[in-house]
Amino acid sequence: MQFNELGLSAKVLQAVEASGYTTPTPIQAKAIPEALAGRDVLGIAQTGTGKTAAFTLPMLSRLEQGRARARMPRTLILEPTRELAAQVEESFAKYGANHKLNVALLIGGVSFGDQEAKIMRGADVLIATPGRLLDFFERGKLLLTGIEILVIDEADRMLDMGFIPDIEKICKLVPFTRQTLFFSATMPPEITRLTEAFLHNPVRVEVARAASTATTITQGLVASHGHAAKRETLRRLIRSEENLKNAIIFCNRKRDVAILHKSLAKHGFSVGALHGDMDQLARMASLEAFKNGDVQLIVCSDVAARGLDIPDVSHVFNFDAPTHSEDYVHRIGRTGRAGKSGVAYTIVTDDDTKYIDQIERLIARKIDWIGPQLSELPPDETPREMRRGREGRDGDRRGGRSGSRSRDRGHGTGPRGRDVRAPGEIEASLEPFDPNAQPTEAAPREERAASDRPARRERGERRPREDLSLIHISEPTRRS
Ligand code: AMP
Repeated sequence: MQFNELGLSAKVLQAVEASGYTTPTPIQAKAIPEALAGRDVLGIAQTGTGKTAAFTLPMLSRLEQGRARARMPRTLILEPTRELAAQVEESFAKYGANHKLNVALLIGGVSFGDQEAKIMRGADVLIATPGRLLDFFERGKLLLTGIEILVIDEADRMLDMGFIPDIEKICKLVPFTRQTLFFSATMPPEITRLTEAFLHNPVRVEVARAASTATTITQGLVASHGHAAKRETLRRLIRSEENLKNAIIFCNRKRDVAILHKSLAKHGFSVGALHGDMDQLARMASLEAFKNGDVQLIVCSDVAARGLDIPDVSHVFNFDAPTHSEDYVHRIGRTGRAGKSGVAYTIVTDDDTKYIDQIERLIARKIDWIGPQLSELPPDETPREMRRGREGRDGDRRGGRSGSRSRDRGHGTGPRGRDVRAPGEIEASLEPFDPNAQPTEAAPREERAASDRPARRERGERRPREDLSLIHISEPTRRS
């Protein structure tokens, strides 16, 4: 199957060719002809499968007829995070290079004024996060009655972030006759209900399951004591990796992203950060610096990093073991993309073993320990004052020394920190742990809902999933 067999317009085909793509990915081959025919599409696919082009390309072809009117966008794409929204905007710039379309982005953290001006001019494509879209609508700055095509992307992530009521509201505000293109990696009952309520006789397009998470990614567990010892473990790990080109480091909480970022920077690493409390410009700048290699490491929270398409990431480090096993698959899927090899290591403390069990059940395989297992760790010798506030929380109760010798094979070619101060001195200067801190701080509207997730999970509530085996990393066919 070739792109020119899908029914796309000449302008779109030219742009696809200029992008260097020769064959459509499975989701593109199946969804594009149906979308062009005006049918509703229910696409079950995750990031990395080429799903963005699966809705962008037919939209561009269809937008060639007609014009946008002031305040009345013609098409609407809903994304759960600002970064994903910005990524979709980039896709329109790439594939829409031969079109003169007005594309507007409506996301939190950016001034209302500029966004309003674009919408006033008449947007052919409006890409938005649900919260900011409703804010705009409620202020009377936007009419949704001209929407011809509605795209709901990453629907299960929207569910995770508590956006489903917003999505339902938006679906009722757009014309009944619009076309809906709906994408989700998984189909829990809440999402199925949503598709039954708002899609009209959709064609269901499901991409083939990938073999497993393990085909191109070397996974490993690294035992560690908690808190400051964990940061030491991470540093040793980074320094000892011989083929580390760049790495994404995941923390579970936004405040820990900030602390770890500060710590790594103080230890001389080339590092940026990405989390929901940063303003939009800083987020974009961090991401750009990482993508173009200006910084080698980036510390992220899940919400900020979900779905980002960053090619060529050699390593993923889970500084915190993810408490939700699905996040593990998404995190490690940042590396080993498009058939390239990748390395994903997870630092594990005593408190994390239950999460590792869940992850291993989900991916249906055991992950090997790199170096000693938890029971074999020497005692934690981190000075007591550097463990303040963590007592009884991080498994740091025994005293003793960091057990991160596992990967300490001497210095490799990775980013080598030039410690101008003794490690203890640097660590002691970091923001102390606040035992009263909430799991997440106040966040902008589109991420506030996501902050509730850890609390929900701590109560033991799990998001139901239709089919765990669908959780996998799919590889798109890519340009070399
Ligand atoms: P997505 O799933 O939309 O995030 O896309 C994942 C990656 O695949 C992006 O880097 C796209 O640019 C790339 N891609 C999309 N379609 C194709 C294609 N037909 N051939 C090769 N790469 C593609």
